Amino acid sequence: MISPSMRAARFVGGRRIELQELPVPEPGAGEVLVKVDSCALCGTDRRSYETGTAVVPGHEVSGTIAALGQGATHALDARGVVYLVGYCGSCYACRSGATNICLDKQKMYGFDTDGGYAEYVKVRAECFLPVSPDVPLDLATSLLDLYGTSGHAFRRAGLRHGDTVAVMGCGPIGLGAISMAGALGAGEVCATDLAPDRLALADSLGATALDAAGGDAVAAALALHPDGFDVVIEAAGTTATQAGAVALTAPGGTTAFVAHNQQPLLVDTLSELIQRAKTLLGSEYFAVSEFGVNHALLVSGRLDPAPLITHRFPLESIQEAFDLFMAGRGGKVLVQPAG
Ligand SMILES: [Zn+2]
Ligand SMILES: [Zn+2]
Repeated sequence: MISPSMRAARFVGGRRIELQELPVPEPGAGEVLVKVDSCALCGTDRRSYETGTAVVPGHEVSGTIAALGQGATHALDARGVVYLVGYCGSCYACRSGATNICLDKQKMYGFDTDGGYAEYVKVRAECFLPVSPDVPLDLATSLLDLYGTSGHAFRRAGLRHGDTVAVMGCGPIGLGAISMAGALGAGEVCATDLAPDRLALADSLGATALDAAGGDAVAAALALHPDGFDVVIEAAGTTATQAGAVALTAPGGTTAFVAHNQQPLLVDTLSELIQRAKTLLGSEYFAVSEFGVNHALLVSGRLDPAPLITHRFPLESIQEAFDLFMAGRGGKVLVQPAG
């Protein structure tokens, strides 16, 4: 029996988060109600944390189906994760399979519609992606931003077996990219960051970790690989790290920009784009069609998210979870409303 009300986080602004009691949402036609197991914190929650928001944030959700709306075909108690984008299915992007860049997004869970820092979240049935019984629900969140986003970036970049990879920024996406690089058969991986515990995590995942706080990490990476790297993932999102990412890219190689940054990209067109033939591309989230491949990598053990998930908090401690995560500490941090 589902109680009529639930606990949910309210981001009031000024980095303050309170708990509120809200009615449990009722799934409408084509929707499902998900009982949230885990919701992973993301750098893109920063805006809600700092300025507040009217919706319940949280977009890296795993859970079980607690109720079905009319016409929703999933099974009750099905386990799975929530795809962030309520895609339209009929625009130019969706018709080509690129649901991640839908041009007519109906909903963005946790951004313009209530998300997962709550006991329950209501989502469109096609946004609920079932996972195998072999995958624990806390670890299943890794199939979203961690591996979904980084896997898409590598596929966009055309990563080939044995390619060298550099990762700028060892937040969750960067750490996910280090793991995904290995799972996809990349060669050596170098990674840069400022935070000691994130560098330690990168090192434990097999990357050569370069401390950007202790000097020029780009120069250090180029000292190791004077020709540059075949694929560079920019997961830090500053003007300086973007320039560094392009500088680290080998002639003929690819820079994939994943971290959000609204500032203009500063690139020397002649020397970088034309004379060194570097490909620069952007990459956002992942297409629904990629989920099965990433899920198979997880089930096979080629991806192991356990070391990346460094902290777990009950919903009551969401303030503590955010204060820790937004200070640049730890890897992936989970809030677990089910306790
Ligand atoms: Zn995210
Ligand atoms: Zn669309």
